[in-house]
Amino acid sequence: MAYRSIALVIIAFLFFGDLLAADKLRALILDGQNNHEWPKTTPILRSILEYSGRFTVDVVTSPRSGESLDSFRPDFSKYNVVVSNYNGDLWPESVRTAFAKYVEDGGGFVSVHAANNAFPEWAEYNEMIGVGGWKGRDEESGPYLRLRGGKFVRDESTGRGGHHGTQHDFVMETRDPDHPIMRGLPPRWMHAKDELYDSLRGPAKNLTVLGSALSTKETNGSGEHEPLLMAIHYGNGRVFHTAVGHSPHAMTCVGFHVTLARGAEWAATRNVTLTKLPHDFPTADMPSRRDLPAKPDAEGWVNLFNGKDLSGWRQVNGTAKYSVEDGVIVGTTNEGSPNSFLCTTNYYGNFELKLEVKVDTQLNSGIQVRSNSFRGFRDYRVHGYQVEIATNGTAGYIWDEAGNRGWLTKNRNDPAARAAFKDGEWNRYRVIFQGDSLKTWVNDVSVANIKDDVTAAGFIGLQVHGIKRGTGPYQVRWRNLVLREL
Ligand code: ZN
Repeated sequence: MAYRSIALVIIAFLFFGDLLAADKLRALILDGQNNHEWPKTTPILRSILEYSGRFTVDVVTSPRSGESLDSFRPDFSKYNVVVSNYNGDLWPESVRTAFAKYVEDGGGFVSVHAANNAFPEWAEYNEMIGVGGWKGRDEESGPYLRLRGGKFVRDESTGRGGHHGTQHDFVMETRDPDHPIMRGLPPRWMHAKDELYDSLRGPAKNLTVLGSALSTKETNGSGEHEPLLMAIHYGNGRVFHTAVGHSPHAMTCVGFHVTLARGAEWAATRNVTLTKLPHDFPTADMPSRRDLPAKPDAEGWVNLFNGKDLSGWRQVNGTAKYSVEDGVIVGTTNEGSPNSFLCTTNYYGNFELKLEVKVDTQLNSGIQVRSNSFRGFRDYRVHGYQVEIATNGTAGYIWDEAGNRGWLTKNRNDPAARAAFKDGEWNRYRVIFQGDSLKTWVNDVSVANIKDDVTAAGFIGLQVHGIKRGTGPYQVRWRNLVLREL
């Protein structure tokens, strides 16, 4: 009986697993020619779609500019959505015909940034993208879209199509909060430094502006609200047009991640099931970036630190120096600086974290977990749970950094716990936060084991404590930082 139950469970699991795989939408990314860094941005587009859990992704890369495109024959019909990261030579007629028919017949299409520069001479393509820029576009390409009285209207005045000012962070404003792609997103959020395309023009038929941003004269822009996120109906198909995403940096914007995945899902299916708003979605006055999530290994562990540089981390709060030496993150005090934190750009809620740390005897340090930094709390002061790093017997206990609750571990008298941390040596930390259960170990000795539910998620941060004038410099080192989400 037991065997039979197990067999049934295994069969059920396999079947369910197959269903999940079959359930995923198939996306095709096109690249190979672009005046932008497509070899860097295609992997980001791919990761965003794959990590949404909703897509499997293939990439077809064209021959280089000027070479024959005879070998470029993507089979659009195999895909639910085609994502273009392509801005180059005109496709062969058979490919253009196949693509127009694919969208006309109900396929999904996502145009990313400079893909709207492509193909000014191809009428169907310009209807799909709605508006585009450069390459000779002008009043004959179609109108500008201008915000007048709260609505985007067609402006037929003469002039070139396509321009941008200097790159900067800018506020994206939701224009159609009821559209499935935008539902539940804030009315305004700070998009990470990017090119703000202005003065795009095109047929603009069956087009809904979902999001726009003010292109200011001060940034050498148009002084107009520019449509940057758009939904277009073409035949039975749907097009999501995102005019942002100039660089890998811009594509790390969490707003870009969310709108791209939602837009691709809408283009593929008419619906959006990716409705959960992530913890780290940007606010109206602060951008939020997320580096490429590392691929978890078979057991779900990801390296938080690549051993080479600090990508995936950002420094907040102080001016201590963080560097990488021989696969180790080294934090060095800077006299006069407040507490400094090197924080993950990603946020984590329930997780197991393991790392090794070595600290100078005189220096206090700590590991922030489920921590936050925003303007509304003491002007971005890092705050939240801190797992203590210190040589005075308190290592591994949990402190409320910058809060008013002090030590959250009330009992700090266990002799084994107080002796767990070895001065002058590498020490192994293990931290498990799951729901309200907060547990730590130092060198396999259980230290903290408490219940607390004040903060559900946040970043991981490595502290270099401020020091008294006339002391230091002191150092703290971290290595082998791995985390798995629970
Ligand atoms: Zn660009």
